[in-house]
Amino acid sequence: MDDRILDGKKVAAAIRGEVAGRVAELGKRGVVPRLDAVLVGDDPASRVYVGSKARTCAKLGMASETHHLSGDAPQEEVEALVDRLNADPEVDGILVQLPLPDHLDTHAVLDRIDPAKDVDGFHPVNTGLLQQGRPALVPCTPAGIMEMLRREGIPIEGRRAVVVGRSDIVGKPMAMLLLHAHATVTLCHSRTRDLAGVTREADILVAAAGRLAIIGPEHVKEGAVVIDVGIHRITDRSEVERLFPGDAARMERFESKGSVLAGDVDFVRVAPLASRITPVPGGVGPLTIAMLMANTVRAAAARRGH
Ligand code: NDP
Repeated sequence: MDDRILDGKKVAAAIRGEVAGRVAELGKRGVVPRLDAVLVGDDPASRVYVGSKARTCAKLGMASETHHLSGDAPQEEVEALVDRLNADPEVDGILVQLPLPDHLDTHAVLDRIDPAKDVDGFHPVNTGLLQQGRPALVPCTPAGIMEMLRREGIPIEGRRAVVVGRSDIVGKPMAMLLLHAHATVTLCHSRTRDLAGVTREADILVAAAGRLAIIGPEHVKEGAVVIDVGIHRITDRSEVERLFPGDAARMERFESKGSVLAGDVDFVRVAPLASRITPVPGGVGPLTIAMLMANTVRAAAARRGH
């Protein structure tokens, strides 16, 4: 593989290996870390995500249980389930699969999770601790990106980092982690003027806008490290041909599956400029679940005094 490509699968495998080692260690002391997922409704993508998290738990020797509520479950029922999981001493991590159905108050549900079991790192207590640079359960996607930068030896201190996207799940915690690692950070969003002018300043550019191929060569300084968080399923053949001209392997995948994945970065046109770049798929995606496992083990060890 081109050694400029940042291989998320490889980094995720290394993280999972370390987590499995830690699980084995805890097992000797009678602790089996357990992650419980709350799934409300029948969103197919959510079912897939929850299923794959449960399978990863099993592979690493961890316990997990999925609590499936109907799509019209009232707020009180979801909150009562969270209360029950908070009180259960065997449960180390609670994951509420998002998005919740529209009738539910997502903040109220997430705020109810015991911060010590908040392995997604979305609770205001963990968000506040992160802002202050104190040890906390950190949202998995940005935490995974930091792990990848660290393990790949990419220097952060003193460098200009630009994050495109300011969500609570990715953009804001990403900016905070880069700031704590002593980057000079700029956070962009949909009202940013002259986005390309700002992103061209970046030594490290993180694209998390949720817009297909929004980052083109005009947005990237030569030699920049480019991290693509976006995940988009392309089902339109002409779009695949436009974004991946001459990429026979991708077209073959499209023919057999009817879709391919792509990111927020126009990979084909940006890659020649970048010193390092994550692909989609196989870049940031695999890191997220690996970090969820790492957070669960960390929560188990901390809460159970190991
Ligand atoms: P959100 O939709 O919550 O946030 C998107 C952010 O991007 C917003 O802050 C928005 O600005 C900003 N934005 C939108 N359009 C533009 C634009 N044209 N120029 C600049 N900024 C823009 O998305 P998420 O943070 O949840 O996710 C972002 C992407 O990452 C999605 O594609 C998602 O699928 C993917 N994702 C991938 C994960 C993984 O494991 N790889 C995990 C989580 C997400 P404003 O605030 O002004 O609206």
